[in-house]
Amino acid sequence: MDTPHRSRFHHRACNLCEAICGLVIEMDGDDIVAIRGDEHDPLSRGHICPKAVALQDIWQDPDRLRRPLRRDGDRWDEVTWDEAFDEVAVRLLDIQDRHGRDAVAVYQGNPTVHNSGTMLYAPAFVRELGTRNRFSASSVDQQPHHVAAYFMFGHLLVLPVPDVDRTQHMLIMGANPMASNGSMMTAPGIRQRLRAIQKRDGRVVVVDPRRTETSRIADEHHFIRPGTDVLLLLGLLHTLFAEDLVRPRDLPLIAADVQRIRDVVRPFDPERVAPATGIDAAAIRAMAIDFASAPSAVCYGRIGVSTQAFGSTCQWLINILNTLTGNLDRPGGAMFPTPAIDTVRHIRPGSYGRWASRVRGAPEFAGELPVAVLSEEILTPGEGQIRALVTSAGNPVLSTPDGRTLDRALAGLDFMVSVDIYLNETTRHADLILPPAVGLETDHYDLAFHALAVRNTAKYSPALFPPSPGAMHDWEIFRELQRRLESRRGTRPRGLKARMRRAVARRMTPRRLLDLGLRLGPYGVWRGRFLRPGGLTLATLERNRHGVDLGPLRPSLPGRLYTDDHKIHLAPNLLVEDLGRVTQTFFANRVSPSPTDEEFDLLLVGRRHLRSNNSWMHNAALLVKGNPRCTALLHPGDAQARGLDDGDTVEVRSAVGAVQLPLEVTSDVIAGVVSIPHGWGHGLPGTRLRTANAHPGASINDLTDASRIDPISGNAAFCGVPVCVTACTTPTTTPTTGDRSSHENPGHQ
Ligand code: SF4
Repeated sequence: MDTPHRSRFHHRACNLCEAICGLVIEMDGDDIVAIRGDEHDPLSRGHICPKAVALQDIWQDPDRLRRPLRRDGDRWDEVTWDEAFDEVAVRLLDIQDRHGRDAVAVYQGNPTVHNSGTMLYAPAFVRELGTRNRFSASSVDQQPHHVAAYFMFGHLLVLPVPDVDRTQHMLIMGANPMASNGSMMTAPGIRQRLRAIQKRDGRVVVVDPRRTETSRIADEHHFIRPGTDVLLLLGLLHTLFAEDLVRPRDLPLIAADVQRIRDVVRPFDPERVAPATGIDAAAIRAMAIDFASAPSAVCYGRIGVSTQAFGSTCQWLINILNTLTGNLDRPGGAMFPTPAIDTVRHIRPGSYGRWASRVRGAPEFAGELPVAVLSEEILTPGEGQIRALVTSAGNPVLSTPDGRTLDRALAGLDFMVSVDIYLNETTRHADLILPPAVGLETDHYDLAFHALAVRNTAKYSPALFPPSPGAMHDWEIFRELQRRLESRRGTRPRGLKARMRRAVARRMTPRRLLDLGLRLGPYGVWRGRFLRPGGLTLATLERNRHGVDLGPLRPSLPGRLYTDDHKIHLAPNLLVEDLGRVTQTFFANRVSPSPTDEEFDLLLVGRRHLRSNNSWMHNAALLVKGNPRCTALLHPGDAQARGLDDGDTVEVRSAVGAVQLPLEVTSDVIAGVVSIPHGWGHGLPGTRLRTANAHPGASINDLTDASRIDPISGNAAFCGVPVCVTACTTPTTTPTTGDRSSHENPGHQ
């Protein structure tokens, strides 16, 4: 008689993207039978996207590294963890001894914030390195949000989030939540959430140079010329004042600044900004009136708004629009989540300009420099030059501007170590790769995205599988790296208190830290010196496998403000003064924002697809199957003018590089624009990503230019890079620039 199969169900939050969907994983013994959305998850309510299956693919991926590797020329050899840790410590310290602490740089990729172990333990390692050359994916797409929050609300993590579930009017600029399920806005199942706005007689308005998946379900879509969102926002604010629609709540918090905002937006009337934006003045005026007249409204701007030369100013103006219409910190407007572990309380508020990058003088923000300067800091000789790099869960060769130059720079480093599960376009340059355990093998509590969610919830995910034999978790890797550096450097905490602190810290596991964070949090068992019966602990979350619902977003000002005077700083000088640059760029000498260079007569914008996640997961066969998605979109008029047809292979060229890829002719993009998805460009020599290398695509960052940044935040200005598109006369089989090689620097070979 056959033994009856017994299935069991594992509940967890998906940690692949910002949406943190609740999953139910059905098991049959040790086999995964199905991955479904958890209908009882209080945040995602059953939503799931096709990427969730990739959790299983990643766990089983034959390309995934499971042992530390050391490179010897073109060969990779397995080494023990002990050998690997020792070598990393010796090499990093040797370089710092000879060239100074800043000679070692750190880059932390996007998956860092999806991993509580890395978030809790990597900072101590980075502190031990003591370098000012710290970089992360934050300056690829989100630093403007943090800069605006820091200057207006006093803390880089006090970030307003759209109260999607209660708003009556949502203005979405440069964002496609239908593909992302929200970014800097954790909103799983956004389709239902947007539909619900419409069902309660509200409106969804989208502004984007492309007819996106989100704009297709919106009530209104306005095409806008890339890089001109700052003008549209100024035109909207001008209209609010002109039409007497400014009605901020909590006036005492901002009173002094309202007049200043009135003065600075006065020159930007809709008639003046309309020609550059491509949206006519009447439509701008109507947009402002509709927004201000709605019972509640929220403006949300994301990638397309942040990744441009005025990214910080755009995010500041969005906050002003929400504030001056009375929609900041009220139901249906832009609200501040109250997460169960309140990272705002445990992280420093931020800093600006304490130091600057060596070569171009870009200011530090919150201890980081813009990743756009990384390659020049490696390639430019002189004191303070970066000679070694530590990367964690990142692939900046594909995801940061001018990836080709960075690729070349990495090849010239004296030493590189990567904490990563893949041998990819970036880690191929490493001397050592330290692969951690992956998602299904780790416990998880989302420290970052509960704090950006459209509803207050909390969920803990225990590991489903043990790590493969001999594997280490991220947090164990970073803790051990820090210990080895500390002990080789001979740094010892001075004094009894410091020694006790270290002894306690060493006994702390992620579970203990998370439990402590929950107990001390706003719903925790400890309220000051008192105990709150029924308050949250880790045990509470372990008992509630679907997660705990902590209710809708709730008003939290002025308590949430970290400014010195506990007021909203509506008009920070740095941002107000940036309006001079706006005038200079768009109106001085009547210079148009469109490329004047006859050669580069189109503007490049990116895009994202539901089935891909930045520069990784393209080696999940289920996600890359189907028609090629790495295509260039071009308006029919632009295609006709160049004699191009749908399906042609074209060359897209910018001042820094060129790529070849298939063309899609579509009226879904505004004339004058070409759109290429980000995250592609696999297949470089020395990488080990079987499926991805079979579907390499072209890297948009072979075209983007590291000199184009938002000078305030240092964020890369990917949006609106001048390019040209021509027929490709000699198509390559690999549709990316073919001149990159891991063999460019003899020092590594
Ligand atoms: S939307 Fe994001 S969090 Fe949700 S299932 Fe997909 S990848 Fe996972």
